[in-house]
Amino acid sequence: MQRQMVTILGASGSIGASTLDVLARHPERYGVFALTANRAVEPMVELCQRFAPRYAVLADEESARQLALRLREEDVSGTEVLGGGEALKQVASHDDVDIVMAAIVGAAGMPSALAAAQAGKRILLANKEALVMAGGLFMAAVEAGGATLLPVDSEHNAIFQCLPVDAQARPDAEAIAGLVLTASGGPFRGSDEAFLAQVTPEQACAHPNWSMGQKISVDSATLMNKGLELAEACWLFRQPEQRVEVVVHPQSIVHSMVRYADGSVLAQLGEPDMRTPIAYALAWPQRIDAGVPALDLVATSRLDFEAPDVQRFPCLRIARECIAAAGSAMAVCNAANEIAVASFLRGEIAFTAISATIEETLQRVTLIEPSSLSEVEAVDREARVMARQIIERRPVAVANQGS
Ligand code: NAD
Ligand code: MG
Repeated sequence: MQRQMVTILGASGSIGASTLDVLARHPERYGVFALTANRAVEPMVELCQRFAPRYAVLADEESARQLALRLREEDVSGTEVLGGGEALKQVASHDDVDIVMAAIVGAAGMPSALAAAQAGKRILLANKEALVMAGGLFMAAVEAGGATLLPVDSEHNAIFQCLPVDAQARPDAEAIAGLVLTASGGPFRGSDEAFLAQVTPEQACAHPNWSMGQKISVDSATLMNKGLELAEACWLFRQPEQRVEVVVHPQSIVHSMVRYADGSVLAQLGEPDMRTPIAYALAWPQRIDAGVPALDLVATSRLDFEAPDVQRFPCLRIARECIAAAGSAMAVCNAANEIAVASFLRGEIAFTAISATIEETLQRVTLIEPSSLSEVEAVDREARVMARQIIERRPVAVANQGS
């Protein structure tokens, strides 16, 4: 079989590392075409030494210049260094690329994922934000470009695995009674309001089951990750929001489920290790070794399920309302969340202020029906400005109350 060439957008991140781990197990099947990151010069030097990609791209142009220098110092030849957003799109849509892993975090991952869709690639979608912000446009680009969209997010990958292969792209609405997304509940499941108000970024990033990047770790702690995944599921599987339920499953062994009309519920189980969904998406419809240990059912022994607490974790409720409202609501929600999470990680706002910031942003911006990527980008920018203003005002308001 011919080797397939892979571009990894976001190669220096958590999903990037897991993807490279799987690729390295199958050098006869896959070659590395391009690796990209934002500013991570030294990690990229190491990755270029190890994987010898044809292109290394850093979104930040100054970092790209440094990487080129460093590769010359280390005598790494055969890798061409490029910089900037256009270069990300080029390596995502290049004629010699078969597979694109879209694993840039946040809204920044949207343009390159879209370029891969338009170019008809096999897209392994980890960047859920592309669907959350502009699901309609993204799915239309996938269809127009003749791309194959394979979900990497573990829940969506699980649902995809629980669908019959001939219905994976277009699940038959009659046979399917609904989808069930499982959520771990994050590190603060069961914590009270007072505790949540004073948790630190370190505590929020210490996920009980999954090792992930900082932003998605905080999203898991607020349950916004599940809200984003709800939107992702609605677009990927063409389901209305009411047909996607969320259950908390603290062991993170059942990765999600499909309910069928006959009462059957099909689940996908496995160790919480992203290499499983990555390997499935890489080799689909075949299966390959992912380096993941076999699930020990006896050691796992129990699987618990409970309803999510949307009172204490309002982000899931907010996201559901935004999905139901449609239009630009979810793009606003996503942008405000990114700003609020970044502020929380810098120690500027409390954990509980994340949901409050998103809700206030949604109240203050005018919601529209965006019909182009530039309109979505304008919505995203406006929401970020508004969220920043709300955050900047907040400490002052607290100080005034106290005086
Ligand atoms: P991460 O923070 O570990 O890595 C992010 C990558 O994106 C890095 O390579 C970084 O250099 C790059 N990047 C950041 N900002 C950029 C910018 N402005 N321009 C270009 N590149 C930029 O994140 P992660 O945990 O690997 O998550 C990546 C994506 O996958 C996210 O959308 C996340 O929601 C999704 N995801 C992650 C997991 C997981 O287990 N980590 C699971 C499901 C979905
Ligand atoms: Mg997930």
